[in-house]
Amino acid sequence: RADIAMYSAKKAGRNNIRFFDPDMQAAVEQRSTMEVCLNHALAQQQFMLYYQPQVNNDGVIVGAEALLRWLHPVNGIINPADFIPIAEETGLIIPIGLWVLETACHQLKLWESDTAKTALHLAINVSSRQFQHPDFVEQVTTVIYKSGINPTQLKLELTESMVIGNINEIINKMQALKKLGVKFSMDDFGTGHSSLSSLKKLPLDQLKIDQSFVHDIASDHDSAIIVQTIIAMASNLGMDVIAEGVETEEQRNFLNEHHCLNFQGYLFGKPVPVDQFEQILKHNPDLTSMNI
Ligand code: C2E
Ligand code: MG
Ligand code: MG
Ligand code: MG
Repeated sequence: RADIAMYSAKKAGRNNIRFFDPDMQAAVEQRSTMEVCLNHALAQQQFMLYYQPQVNNDGVIVGAEALLRWLHPVNGIINPADFIPIAEETGLIIPIGLWVLETACHQLKLWESDTAKTALHLAINVSSRQFQHPDFVEQVTTVIYKSGINPTQLKLELTESMVIGNINEIINKMQALKKLGVKFSMDDFGTGHSSLSSLKKLPLDQLKIDQSFVHDIASDHDSAIIVQTIIAMASNLGMDVIAEGVETEEQRNFLNEHHCLNFQGYLFGKPVPVDQFEQILKHNPDLTSMNI
């Protein structure tokens, strides 16, 4: 982009050679300001995990997805969409991702001593740069052992965007963690560009139907067909399936009728801080007495 800017600056000619146009300079400045802020946020512990329930067909909470929030002292709560892309670009996603992993595993360990929470699984989002990092497997393994959690309760959500490059390398990484018991889910499934043949090779435990399809289930025939196809595919490949972004009874009923029996969405609960999540869990049946 710098080359292009230089080229157009030269082309613009005259004697005042500008290397960046003002818009671009502003963008660059904004990015580096953001980088400093994110670093600061990490050091000042301004990050926080919210937990959103994942429920089974009976509406019982069987797990949660951990969702990152940035509690900015001036701007309030900032959603991941507004800072994860920059964290990815700058590489800060590596320490931030590690923080998420450590915090989530610490939480799982705390829940272990309470029968209502001991069998919960916890899903965390892994960005592609994080997954592609050569130390990823070692990092996850270390956090698992240090926290003392049961690895079978940890689910890592990947996205189709990381299914690029050497597929065997991806499989090897996943297999190494699967040996410990870690589960894998493919997030936002159906929105990416990964080929079905490469997806078939991945040792996934779950497909997570993207909320855009769920949203339009009742109004758009194509979305309904896509959802049905994903459910059938998961079943044929021996995977579990969960729908995200379930907001209405109508959507839930459609999913139910088509044998998707795991749900996440505002219909069942929004992402909330851990103390609120634990309040909701008080109404949950004892998971240890259930076969889940
Ligand atoms: P995602 O993993 O697909 O998470 C689902 C998003 O949908 C969350 O947004 C959640 O709050 C929202 N959601 C859940 N149920 C509903 C619903 O019924 N209706 C609607 N309209 N939205 C719903 P959030 O928390 O803003 O996160 C956005 C994305 O940021 C996540 O999408 C994920 O890709 C990323 N992200 C979140 N936390 C982390 C993290 O710790 N690490 C990384 N690398 N990415 C993260
Ligand atoms: Mg997710
Ligand atoms: Mg998702
Ligand atoms: Mg999504």
